[in-house]
Amino acid sequence: MFCKNCGAEMHELAAICVKCGCPREAGANFCQYCGKETPPGTVFCSGCGIPLYQPKKSRRSKIAAGLLAIFLGSFGVHNFYLGFTGKAVAQLLITVLTCGAGSVITGIWSLIEGILILTGSSDKDSDGNILSD
Ligand SMILES: [Zn+2]
Ligand SMILES: [Zn+2]
Repeated sequence: MFCKNCGAEMHELAAICVKCGCPREAGANFCQYCGKETPPGTVFCSGCGIPLYQPKKSRRSKIAAGLLAIFLGSFGVHNFYLGFTGKAVAQLLITVLTCGAGSVITGIWSLIEGILILTGSSDKDSDGNILSD
């Protein structure tokens, strides 16, 4: 394996890197499996293809988001819930500024979003974390 901080080769059982003194698993500059450089924002190692970034579980619920989308979606409530504030405000304004007439549009829009959320096609919140079940 390789030091994720400096890219030096490390013994499998070493707790710290002998070259830079960085603890094992610390750092994010190099792939620990193949030693290739991993620029910030890299999701998969370009050398060996392993995922470098594990999506975290969101504390937001998929069911809650889906139901909010279907029942209150015209007001953008589900998007406020998921953190997509821009989209939420857009849906809210379309509905409110048209005195509800626009809810035909936002209702269908959010119904589709609700279905995508509940079926798992759309499974991330605004932080990129996976929605919990
Ligand atoms: Zn090192
Ligand atoms: Zn790699």
